[in-house]
Amino acid sequence: MVQIERNPTREVKIGSITIGGTHPIAVQSMTATKTTDIDSTVGLVTLMHEAGADVVRIAVDSKKDAEALAEIRQQTTANLSVDLQENYRLVALVAPHVDKVRYNPGHLYHHERDKQWQEKVQLIAETAREHDCAIRVGVNCGSVDPIQKAKYDPTDSITPMLESALDHCHFLESIQFERFCVSLKDSDPAKVVEVNQRFADQRNDIPLHLGVTEAGMPPDGIIKTRIAFEQLVGRGIGDTVRVSLTVPNAEKGLEIQAGREILNDIHNGRVRSVVDLNQSGINIISCPSCSRVENEAFVELAQKVKKMTAYAAQHAITIAVMGCRVNGPGETDDADLGLWCGPKYVNLKKGTLALGAFGYDEILGRLKTELDQLIIEKKC
Ligand code: SF4
Repeated sequence: MVQIERNPTREVKIGSITIGGTHPIAVQSMTATKTTDIDSTVGLVTLMHEAGADVVRIAVDSKKDAEALAEIRQQTTANLSVDLQENYRLVALVAPHVDKVRYNPGHLYHHERDKQWQEKVQLIAETAREHDCAIRVGVNCGSVDPIQKAKYDPTDSITPMLESALDHCHFLESIQFERFCVSLKDSDPAKVVEVNQRFADQRNDIPLHLGVTEAGMPPDGIIKTRIAFEQLVGRGIGDTVRVSLTVPNAEKGLEIQAGREILNDIHNGRVRSVVDLNQSGINIISCPSCSRVENEAFVELAQKVKKMTAYAAQHAITIAVMGCRVNGPGETDDADLGLWCGPKYVNLKKGTLALGAFGYDEILGRLKTELDQLIIEKKC
């Protein structure tokens, strides 16, 4: 067993577990069913709980989702976390039923734009306090606080994430709310390592939740995540983790299994030392899907994209495949080619340029045309 000196993070209780300090690193996952489909969601929560998930996260976007959550709570003893995306005010409806609330600083700008984010966070924190919930400040590369983003060079995607997280920590502490952790996620493992390392250099007392967003399908998705976790956990950084994989719901237990295997390997010294993070071949990133997925065909589409693009394996091109309109448009911006799914059409982008919406049966052909063109243009 390797002795890793963990950062002296503060303890944060989430339902029946505690993260931080010397507590074991927790492994989490997230449901991908429609939250209003109570039976399927309870089924998936149970599957993850039985696979060993310490916390299971559920997305809530509407009052109907919040009502369903109350019922889901009755049917499981799993520690539940809820993902507040656009509508922070739903916190009042969900906090009574969960153990942790996650908010994204960038998403606080979507509603009630005339209100300061501090006022919104205060409401979230007061409600969490009242209902014995922890908070996660979930900063994501694809949806960074626009004010922070405007302050820095557009090529610097890391500093705005970092500053946004530090600002929120400072504000939560100023209102005497300390029961929180932070996550700083990107689809690029190298950026995940850098931003978390820089955060931990400044705030080694705050528990970190680690993850690589849109890691994609196994085995590549597990490898990308392993690269980041090895370098962070090996340096004592990280109190809770999630391995985000694009897999069908019935296989979601794999996220937990992969998380535990990576952590076990690190603690037993089975690491692939000095990992080269420079991208040399094609990189397919795809979101793990969640209740917001717009069309059930998403996972299959991601698998087909991987298969169809195999011929371009040696070209350094990034293709992103996202499941919905909430995060799809933003999270595809940094990819060479991006696809995000609507109910009937798949939207195709080349960098930040929208190329149009295509039927699920036409998209692969159009993607191939764009990929061939890009290979010529980039001469890569
Ligand atoms: S891109 Fe959309 S569907 Fe995919 S995980 Fe993110 S929110 Fe869920």
